[in-house]
Amino acid sequence: MTTTYESSEIKNIIARALEQNPENSEVIKAFAPIIARQRQLVEEISLKVPDCTLIDKNKLKAGVPVSSQMDLIEPEDPLKEVALSLAAAVKEGMPNISENIDKISDLIRDGKLNPFDFFKAPADGKGDAIGGLSKKLQVSPSNASFLMSLVSRVVLERRAKEIMAALGPFDWEKGYCPICGEFPSIALIEEEGGKRFLHCSSCGQDWRFTRICCPYCEKEERKEMEYFYVENKKQEAAFVCDQCKKYLVTLYRAGKVFARDMDISAISLIHMDVLMQNKGYEPMTACVWNVLS
Ligand SMILES: [Zn+2]
Ligand SMILES: [Zn+2]
Repeated sequence: MTTTYESSEIKNIIARALEQNPENSEVIKAFAPIIARQRQLVEEISLKVPDCTLIDKNKLKAGVPVSSQMDLIEPEDPLKEVALSLAAAVKEGMPNISENIDKISDLIRDGKLNPFDFFKAPADGKGDAIGGLSKKLQVSPSNASFLMSLVSRVVLERRAKEIMAALGPFDWEKGYCPICGEFPSIALIEEEGGKRFLHCSSCGQDWRFTRICCPYCEKEERKEMEYFYVENKKQEAAFVCDQCKKYLVTLYRAGKVFARDMDISAISLIHMDVLMQNKGYEPMTACVWNVLS
């Protein structure tokens, strides 16, 4: 799948998205500076080389993602720099939350808030690290977790790329992400040959999914998967599962003319999220743009 492109290409990808889905221009414009900055940071940051000897391909084959075999975010990762850089991009795209973002940035800059604390596994059973921290520091928990999920994407995407390069090919048959274990935010079907790829917005990974079943609950489909289409827009659909009541926005790609960014595509198809959620279905994963209620 050819979703890799130079980060300088992102401006053109966003321009095409605005052209193709003008009805969603507001949300595309809000996320545009954030995604552009994320892609740039993925290329620029320096991370410790991952120790891929920790990863067992047999476990992958059995459905154990990399995130269950090694830590994907480390305390020495440049989380502070990434967070401050992304905070500036968030303010550009979403000026209405500028004040809250400034407050969070100040705490990070002064060392009162360590972004890594958001990513520590709640091993002590206390859970809800974000809620607790936000309360202590008196910042908006939703804005803090929004910023931290943007930070985590940058580190995870870079690490995922390095792991995939070091690991080489491996078998993966699950509907959740082989790297971070999250469920997909969007699927892409190549019209020629019908190959289906799933995309993880939490780490940016794409993987081929060949099984004829629901990626979420694995309910087998007898013949074909069930899709919901919007009139006059044959390239945009949503897979729906009548067992788990989840949906997955799905895009049909005719050619390979233009570079594509699957997150920009997912954001451009947010009308499908509105439609499916109004019908009572839930997304397979919560993203910063598809939590509508
Ligand atoms: Zn992932
Ligand atoms: Zn299902």
